[in-house]
Amino acid sequence: MSSEVFGHLRKSLHDHLCDVTNLASTVDDRTVARLARAELPRLVTALRALLEEHKPDQSGRCPTCRSGPFSRRLPAPCRAYLAAHLSLAVAEDERPTGTGDRRYTQRLHRVG
Ligand SMILES: [Zn+2]
Repeated sequence: MSSEVFGHLRKSLHDHLCDVTNLASTVDDRTVARLARAELPRLVTALRALLEEHKPDQSGRCPTCRSGPFSRRLPAPCRAYLAAHLSLAVAEDERPTGTGDRRYTQRLHRVG
């Protein structure tokens, strides 16, 4: 993939994520609910696709991550899994108290 094509792809993805984030914090609750129903499954699918690329092989190593061009595959969990887990754990800690649904927290813990 050329750097120009990657640049357009990267900008498109970042713009979409910024739009979703900005909308979630600026629109009314009813619109946020509709936004969440539309976007959450897509975001979960995207995250699962990324994590599938980093699923450990039979020797417990990531098939994608390497520490250098001539190095061996990195042991699991690789940085992609750690970044996803850290992002979800931090997101959980930043949730306002008293608004959480216990089922949400239980599902979140099953992710890790
Ligand atoms: Zn990896």
